[in-house]
Amino acid sequence: MQKITLIAGTRPNFIKLASIIRALESHPSISYEWIHTGQHYDEQMSHYFFKDLSIPEPNRLFTHTSYQSVDIQLSIIKQLHEYFSQSTIQHVMVLGDVHSTVLAATVAKQYCKIVHHVEAGLRSFDLTMPEEINRKLTDSISDYFYTTTEEAKKQLINEGQDHNRIFWVGNTMIDSLLRILPKATSFKSDILPPKSFILLTLHRPINVDDQDTLLSILNIVENNTDLPILFPVHPRTKKNIQHKVFNRIRFIDPCGYIDFIYLIQQAALILTDSGGIQEESTVLNIPCITYRTTTERPETIHVGTNTLAKDLDELILALQRFKEGEIKTGRIPELWDGHAGERIVSILQTID
Ligand code: UDP
Repeated sequence: MQKITLIAGTRPNFIKLASIIRALESHPSISYEWIHTGQHYDEQMSHYFFKDLSIPEPNRLFTHTSYQSVDIQLSIIKQLHEYFSQSTIQHVMVLGDVHSTVLAATVAKQYCKIVHHVEAGLRSFDLTMPEEINRKLTDSISDYFYTTTEEAKKQLINEGQDHNRIFWVGNTMIDSLLRILPKATSFKSDILPPKSFILLTLHRPINVDDQDTLLSILNIVENNTDLPILFPVHPRTKKNIQHKVFNRIRFIDPCGYIDFIYLIQQAALILTDSGGIQEESTVLNIPCITYRTTTERPETIHVGTNTLAKDLDELILALQRFKEGEIKTGRIPELWDGHAGERIVSILQTID
């Protein structure tokens, strides 16, 4: 392989992309182009990350005239067609489980490209999650698979994929985390004293799109802990909490990556519905409650610090256990050692 196109479009995509780009930069035998689909377009979810993660400017940035979710998806498809109809690069890499991932894989295959999927094989087995649909569809048409765990590799084999094309490489998100950790550790902020607050993030449609649902989660959190709660608010979540007042929940804008990792390290507890944050809190050994009925990252529960709270009753119970001093500790899953990107690029070098 001489050249590959990397396609990314969202905050979690950029964090994974940074690791691959860094590894490619140190192996000049493979050159690359990277395309930003513009799915996350605002500065706080996009360009701020390039600086923190040392990602170069994209070779192509898709722009959109309407920022409604469906309009963005259609506009991404159109611009992917424009790109692939001109590009002679045969290999395409997509990352994670967002809409940009499945759209890029689908259009790439229509131009007979060879598709590589990073973070393949994760399954929540919950098709009400848009991300689960994206994961299954992307894996069903990809040619090469790079997994974070052995379990994800086995899942792909069970689904009939060729085991010679599935590589258990570790976790590119953790590559980025370990690389910026020294900067995050030395970061100075007087936001709240260490271990004196809960860090909260919520952005899954099922938790935030209905205002009553979101407000009942926030009420439960506020009423079942003594600690202040810091909540960097995802743009998706914003509209349903505007003008709401909580005594102990402090709403802030989404943080830059280094700032956010600093906050994870400093938090007494994480409460989230994010995929990546379950992994990061496991690696940083910070207890994490995930407010979802399923997780596609079960190793964070079996090996790491994560606990699933499947409904409001389980959330109350989990918060009370924490209040009584029950702290879940864990270990770091195998191969989450900061070298996944390098392993992926070593494999790319063996592919024609
Ligand atoms: N993150 C961040 N700033 C924030 C919240 C999250 O940098 O204010 C990072 C976090 O460290 C993680 C990633 O964004 O690496 C997770 O993104 P998100 O929760 O949006 O997506 P998911 O992982 O659920 O797909």
